[in-house]
Amino acid sequence: MKSTPKPTKKNIPVYQPDLSGNEREYVLRCIDTNWISSRGEFVERFEKGIAEYVGVSHAIAVCNGTAAVHVALVGAGIRPGDEIIVPSLTYIASVNPIMLCGATPVFVDSDPKTWHVDPDRIRAAIGPRTKAIVVAHLYGSLADMVTLREIADEHKLVLVEDAAEALGSTLNGRQAGSLGHVSSLSFYGNKTITTGEGGMVCTDDAVIASRMRKFRGQGLCAHREYWHDEIGFNFRMTNIAAAIGVAQLERLPAILEAKRRLAQWYAEDLAGCNIELQPEPPGVVSSRWMVAALVENSAVLAAVRSTLAAGGVETRPIFAPIHRMPPYAPVHGRIPMPVAEDISSRGLNLPSWPGLTREDVSHVSSLVRRAIDEFSLAVPHRVNIESLEVKTMPAQVGAARPAVVA
Ligand SMILES: *Cc1c(COP(=O)(O)O)cnc(C)c1O
Repeated sequence: MKSTPKPTKKNIPVYQPDLSGNEREYVLRCIDTNWISSRGEFVERFEKGIAEYVGVSHAIAVCNGTAAVHVALVGAGIRPGDEIIVPSLTYIASVNPIMLCGATPVFVDSDPKTWHVDPDRIRAAIGPRTKAIVVAHLYGSLADMVTLREIADEHKLVLVEDAAEALGSTLNGRQAGSLGHVSSLSFYGNKTITTGEGGMVCTDDAVIASRMRKFRGQGLCAHREYWHDEIGFNFRMTNIAAAIGVAQLERLPAILEAKRRLAQWYAEDLAGCNIELQPEPPGVVSSRWMVAALVENSAVLAAVRSTLAAGGVETRPIFAPIHRMPPYAPVHGRIPMPVAEDISSRGLNLPSWPGLTREDVSHVSSLVRRAIDEFSLAVPHRVNIESLEVKTMPAQVGAARPAVVA
């Protein structure tokens, strides 16, 4: 479908970090004091700050959010042969660490009302080898952790919360990252707060915490130097990264306020337009990490994304269902996941970084509106839409990695 946006080149990236606080000063302090590796005041300060903010007794900094999921699984005692229930609709980093532990993912479909794992499907997927449920909060919204915690407790499963996208979101007043038995955060450049690359694992369980600390640092024995009684990794965070994190954490409330405000602007601008913004379930206050929306079908999605791209606005597709990706498809690819497929086929993320102005959001929204209006004029018959859908589907697969434009 051809669209002719007027050439108002604004170049609005889908995300970019805001480093305008004490980030520079703290990084320079690392260099000036020679503390640039994983020892130093900022690592401890960042861990303490996150533990306090999230409301957990232990927070342990790691080198990225994927390592955080891996460390959380090892900390939770996941062993080769275990089965872990996980949504197909999430970012790849929720799933790959399961395989790296020698465990087996058991994919479940999502609930169309929340986009998150469907608790009934989780119940149905529990078997004798099931050890854990990995829940990923999508785009800042939260899964139904009350029900999931009940299911986990009833079946003696570990509830792992991949809260990479949800720092600052709350469920009934409780922070994301404190709602499972163990949780992981990411501080990649496009996350709500960033350390460049970085992550954190959180728990209230002292045994899980000490296992995680040990696995992060080479399986080192607590009371004997250079003696390693388990196989671990080096997943440590540097003091430089933590310095950026401490400065970011100081401004987290302001960042969250800006993000919720811009989500509200999108909701105002797109009201009455044939587009569905991601729902905010009862009891949830979403951080709105990424504003996510569904259009009518994949052909409209292609039209919207190309109109926005031509207008200088970057968008992202919603994650593709992981059970269909090459490493997983041979075993899991034929399991029908209609909800994950549907959301993935017609969903997108709109620019969501905290520095966006009211005008930026109006500009993006007007391009979205125009693309949807032009499409409905150009394609009046459903028959045409279906043939277009077949053509545009493959473009979705494999395009799930959010990137940062710094
Ligand atoms: C960002 C993210 C991660 C971790 O990613 P890293 O890039 O390794 O920090 C994990 N899970 C989800 C759902 C994410 O969005």
